[in-house]
Amino acid sequence: MRGGSILLCYNPVLMKYLVVADIHSNLEAFQAVLDDVNQNYGGFDHIWCLGDIVGYGPSPSQCINLLKEFDYTCICGNHDQAAVGKLDTSDFNADAASANEWTARQISDDERQFLLDLPESFVEGEFTIVHGSPRAPVWEYITSAISATESFRYFDTRYCLVGHTHVPFVFEQDEVTVNEGYLGSGDMLVLGDHRLIINPGGVGQPRDRDPRASYAVYDSEKNAVYHYRVSYDVSATQEKMEEAGLPVFLISRLGWGV
Ligand code: ZN
Repeated sequence: MRGGSILLCYNPVLMKYLVVADIHSNLEAFQAVLDDVNQNYGGFDHIWCLGDIVGYGPSPSQCINLLKEFDYTCICGNHDQAAVGKLDTSDFNADAASANEWTARQISDDERQFLLDLPESFVEGEFTIVHGSPRAPVWEYITSAISATESFRYFDTRYCLVGHTHVPFVFEQDEVTVNEGYLGSGDMLVLGDHRLIINPGGVGQPRDRDPRASYAVYDSEKNAVYHYRVSYDVSATQEKMEEAGLPVFLISRLGWGV
């Protein structure tokens, strides 16, 4: 409960947030993340989902419905918008467009409405949360210190969480420059005065040559963000994709993490 007796000083609710991006209809990866954080890192209170719940993978409805079992805040990614016709797929490559058409045929009316209703960004406390970048929330990729430098001008909070590249990364703005760093499993970011843009990596289709699902936990009590990787049953997801007739490259890339 927020607030309380007028005699108390302001005492923000201390919470653990599970930060997931780019689940991409990969139920096995999403479930592995939930199991990992519950079994190894003390669980969580709330999910921040950074978009692209669907697209590419074989279980769009199951991933939407699993997310909805928890307290969550979720924004839309480009694949979520494309699946409901909110974004045209002329900029998608052929495999992504094909998977998008397949996804659109699988989801129910309720799931379609869920995707349609997702906002493009939200702010909670010191965090701005978007899929791509604060300048172009759905589409822009932050891949380097150069693009991050621009992005720092487009949000007012101290920290910004992004997904979209499927690569775990942190960009730090200090007095003179923007520093960048890859996030390895077990890395911890203690939140201080410097502004940060943090990407937890991709749950359902990692692209940093590590096929394990990638995610983060923000612990507001410790004022820190932790980054983790967890293995999942890639072959089970691949078998479902084969049965669904999804593109061969999308199936094989899960095994390589590219
Ligand atoms: Zn994505």
